[in-house]
Amino acid sequence: MTKKPAVAIYGLWPDLRAYTRQKLRKFLVTIHPDIIKLDELGPRTDFLAVFIESPVTKQVMAKLPHLKGVASMSTGYDHIDLVEAKKRKIPVSNVPSYGENTVAEHTFALMLALTRRLFDSAKRVKEGRYDFGGLRGVDLKGRTLGVIGTGHIGAHVIRIAKGFEMNVLAYDVRPKADLAKTLGFSYVTLPKLLKQSDIVTLHTPLFKENYHLLNKKTIALMKKGSYLINTARGALVEPAAVLGALNSGRLAGAGLDVLEDEKLLQNFEEVMHCKNNNCKLQTSLINNLLIDHPNTIITPHNAFNSTEALKRIIDVTAQNLEGFAAGHPINLVR
Ligand code: NAD
Repeated sequence: MTKKPAVAIYGLWPDLRAYTRQKLRKFLVTIHPDIIKLDELGPRTDFLAVFIESPVTKQVMAKLPHLKGVASMSTGYDHIDLVEAKKRKIPVSNVPSYGENTVAEHTFALMLALTRRLFDSAKRVKEGRYDFGGLRGVDLKGRTLGVIGTGHIGAHVIRIAKGFEMNVLAYDVRPKADLAKTLGFSYVTLPKLLKQSDIVTLHTPLFKENYHLLNKKTIALMKKGSYLINTARGALVEPAAVLGALNSGRLAGAGLDVLEDEKLLQNFEEVMHCKNNNCKLQTSLINNLLIDHPNTIITPHNAFNSTEALKRIIDVTAQNLEGFAAGHPINLVR
């Protein structure tokens, strides 16, 4: 009998274990509820399946001499050292489109929470004051939404925006003329989008080239009193620039599901025991100021987290692992 290939899965929630095991019957599966830890890696591992909290670094790959594939259980793959994987000829796959509606729906949850003052309104009633004074919001209808990145999620955001009768402008490094025609929106340059939009929402992957795409200079182009939504990746936005713009009133509000160096908010130990400049203390401080700011609503990288989306993630990850095992990888990242 041929040996089943060994898959190590990191960061999987206990309620999804049975479903995952059933989908991965062809594999010898080890499920770790926590993120990858260097000293707990099993050297016999053939394949890794990880969520974004588990960085697959050079050191991780060096500890797994049999590693033949890494399946990212997410769309984004900036937590995987692709240069090292390429060097070691280890294919890396992702789940390209499990969450287009899921993340787009969360984007609107953040948008509506800000524009309708939902958090303050609900808090006030819970505190025993049934009174709408000072809680006036703004309509989405007729406002201009600027969508940066018109891939799977961005396109779905545009579909929903059209349901709200919003005008849509978009910016993408690879514009899709057919999509613009079908959904009824226009591509413009990034500066024009920032100048003309009432709400700007980010839906691009994080690459070296677009690190802090929204920074002091670009945020200064945004309309006074506009809103910023980020459900893509924290490092697309310079945290200090957002804080400054909220304080000056350039931004009326920010709805963020992602923050730069958000891991430090989950694992405060890393900050406490930090010995060098890599610990990003400044970013941690600014993140906390953003969290406490009255005009922000911050969710803990939760946009992907729906029952349906997680099942789709596991289904596609199972296909990706089968692709590795058969020597025909699918959903390879760049
Ligand atoms: P996608 O690959 O389908 O689309 C990305 C789009 O961004 C493409 O059209 C691409 O051309 C464009 N793009 C790339 N670089 C750009 C740049 N510098 N400027 C403008 N446009 C650029 O990806 P997707 O499925 O729509 O997902 C987008 C991102 O959302 C993911 O990469 C991931 O980081 C993030 N995401 C977050 C969550 C969450 O839970 N918060 C969940 C899923 C995905």
